Amino acid sequence: MVRSILKKYNIKGGTFDQHFLIDIGYLDRIVAAAELSPQDTVLEIGAGIGNLTERLARRAKKVIAVELDPSLVSVLHDRFDKVENIEVMAGDALNVDFPGFDKVVSNLPYSISSEITFKLLRHKFKLGILMYQYEFAARMVSPPGRKDYSRLTVDTYYFADASIIMKVPKGAFQPAPEVDSAVVKLVPRPSPFEVRDEAFFLEFVVAVFSQRRKKLRNSILNTNSMLKIPDIKEVVNQLPEDFMNKRAENLTPEELASVANMLFDLKSDKPWLK
Ligand code: SAM
Repeated sequence: MVRSILKKYNIKGGTFDQHFLIDIGYLDRIVAAAELSPQDTVLEIGAGIGNLTERLARRAKKVIAVELDPSLVSVLHDRFDKVENIEVMAGDALNVDFPGFDKVVSNLPYSISSEITFKLLRHKFKLGILMYQYEFAARMVSPPGRKDYSRLTVDTYYFADASIIMKVPKGAFQPAPEVDSAVVKLVPRPSPFEVRDEAFFLEFVVAVFSQRRKKLRNSILNTNSMLKIPDIKEVVNQLPEDFMNKRAENLTPEELASVANMLFDLKSDKPWLK
């Protein structure tokens, strides 16, 4: 069925991360995982030839299908212009303003995984079912202290509960990618820990993971052009020794937040900054 659509429109794929999910079993499992109701508006990023789109539209109130490649946008218009609950949105998902949506379900273009995930996490939605390269998915859910533990892990954990719900082999796609894939379930929720200032915390996480092999003391000192804390050497000496002597990769999100909070408080107490 999916193969016949590729054949009909003479779509070969390969460019723009085009690896089409042709295995009906996985398509059905992804749609089932989204637990769609007739009230749900679904955002799909990288709709391709519409194989997932049509299945989502059968169960949801509306599907907003974003696609970058003009030749695939034409396919989507040809297939769905008469389908009332599918809206095709041509453009780069990194640049378009997403309209409101309840759920995001996508077989993502892997080359924009980081940027699109950071963008999505800053939107309000109920559930995400997202296909990534397996290694990327592993970084989203890594425990502290592992090589996969990163800015992405902490950012994801701050905004949502994330879990890998299925691995997907290369053979499920046409053309087959060079890597295995995994589907991640994202359930946005309030942060499990308190941050004094969200923007400062998120910037702190970027800063310290940009120097992940350095002890926290040095990574803070080296990245103060981002953090902009006056008298940084003096400030760092006031922070707990045991945290300062560890690397960012060995601190839990909660511990990183507590350091960011202390830094923010020290920064805010400076009367000349107010
Ligand atoms: N949804 C289809 C499926 O499951 O078979 C296609 C998925 S394919 C992995 C990724 C899709 O994202 C391709 O159709 C590609 O053209 C599209 N794409 C790539 N970069 C994009 C971007 N920046 N914004 C929107 N779509 C993009």
